[in-house]
Amino acid sequence: MNKVFEGMYVGGQWSSTGKTFPDINPSDGSVWGDAPDGGRMEARNAINAAHAAFGEWSSLQFNERAHYMMKIAQVFEKRQADITAALQGEGGGWFGKGMFEASYAPEVFYAAAASNYAAIGEIIPSEFGKLSMAVRRPMGVISVISPWNFPVVLTSRGIAFAIAAGNTLVLKPSEETPYCGGLLFAEIFEEAGIPDGVLNVVTCSRDNVAEVGEELIENPLVKGISFTGSTAVGRQIGARAGAHLKKCCLELGGKDSLIVCDDADMDRATGAANFGSFMHQGQICMSVEKVLVQDTIFDEFLKQFIERASKLKVGDTTKDNSHIIGPLINDKQAARVKGHIDDAVAKGAKIVLGGGVNGRFVEPTLLVGVTPDMKVYQEETFGPVVPVIPFKTDEEAIKIANDSEYGLSAGVITRDEHRGLNIARQLETGMCHINCSSVNDEPHAPFGGSKASGMGRHGGRWATDTFTETRWITLDRGGRGFPPGF
Ligand code: NAD
Repeated sequence: MNKVFEGMYVGGQWSSTGKTFPDINPSDGSVWGDAPDGGRMEARNAINAAHAAFGEWSSLQFNERAHYMMKIAQVFEKRQADITAALQGEGGGWFGKGMFEASYAPEVFYAAAASNYAAIGEIIPSEFGKLSMAVRRPMGVISVISPWNFPVVLTSRGIAFAIAAGNTLVLKPSEETPYCGGLLFAEIFEEAGIPDGVLNVVTCSRDNVAEVGEELIENPLVKGISFTGSTAVGRQIGARAGAHLKKCCLELGGKDSLIVCDDADMDRATGAANFGSFMHQGQICMSVEKVLVQDTIFDEFLKQFIERASKLKVGDTTKDNSHIIGPLINDKQAARVKGHIDDAVAKGAKIVLGGGVNGRFVEPTLLVGVTPDMKVYQEETFGPVVPVIPFKTDEEAIKIANDSEYGLSAGVITRDEHRGLNIARQLETGMCHINCSSVNDEPHAPFGGSKASGMGRHGGRWATDTFTETRWITLDRGGRGFPPGF
């Protein structure tokens, strides 16, 4: 059954332009729903609505906003089953991935509620005996642009702390997941009784995204931008925001390594490689995109990794919950991933598992003999394809891991905690997880990348920093004189 959209959500009202675009189920190519197609005017109306709501929302007591965040979390909890089904239908994800997203979202809102009870400033010493304070305040209207791969989690993360801090928002979800990343949130905010205009949702097709995006950044009422998506688009957004001197948080792509040392627990190592490389078909910003294995255990590791990965079932995620590997999001992504496999093979790599591409379905694929001239070594693949590369020393593993324009996350598997920390310290990434895969997120921890993986942090007090402005306020008590002559 097709999803029926009520329209876009602006100032607490559902409205439609009459124009729609097809929201496709990537498993079978059917139209999952017809999503409202907005343009510059709808974006402008949404910004105006957010601006109108800012005064009252930011003036609420911190605990009142926290209570609202908890109500949102509770509505999310109630809707876990239908959110999971929507994620399978609209996004092509496995049932378990849908359950994970649906249960993670309330945690984000609970964490955002908790953040409102933390200190909002610091007292600084003053040589003149002033009361000198660093205080934070909300910025105003923030534009949030979110991606399709984990639409519920990443939209939650993009909006919860920003709203808790007192900002009001315009959300533009990806055209691939206008419901799970956007209009679902409007439904939930409405049911939770959040005041009108605090969250506004504008959806649009890829044809209109340039003009909507332009308005969401350049409109003078917008004070901050939160973008999660590809590095290519992130660079454009960052440049545009910079030209207007607007604060911008960019969470972008990655090419993460999992380093498996010779003293690794083999079961832990192959589990981390399998989950990190193939969860949601490798369509995670912090997916394992290179498995680096110490040469003395390479053959044994590869044998066990192949054994594990070959058990992952591929198929339509809406038909069978045991289909862990669903389709890639669209034909363009499938062609890109196939391009990476073909390029690697043409340049001498060997496929040791998988390699099959059937429409949007790509088999979990392991490659050996991968060299730095191959796309699969350099570029983000964003699919279920991973090279397994041998290394001799820890220095060499660090060098290969850092040989990338990206720097999002990493994993290191070793029984030696000192060795793990020593490697982690030398990796040029925003995050690193020892004895785990690179895929990790917790709502209260600092999430973000280095190098071309972005700037700014989500999570906990780091998100509060991202979505507030710090001000210096002093109160003189007669201690500061002026130079003679004044
Ligand atoms: P994308 O860059 O194509 O799209 C992201 C969002 O930007 C979408 O909402 C899209 O509609 C919008 N957009 C596109 N062009 C725009 C423009 N000119 N102006 C304004 N908005 C525009 O990325 P995607 O394909 O949706 O997501 C996959 C990418 O996101 C991967 O590279 C992945 O690594 C990255 N990602 C990063 C993180 C992170 O936290 N670092 C998380 C998830 C995904």
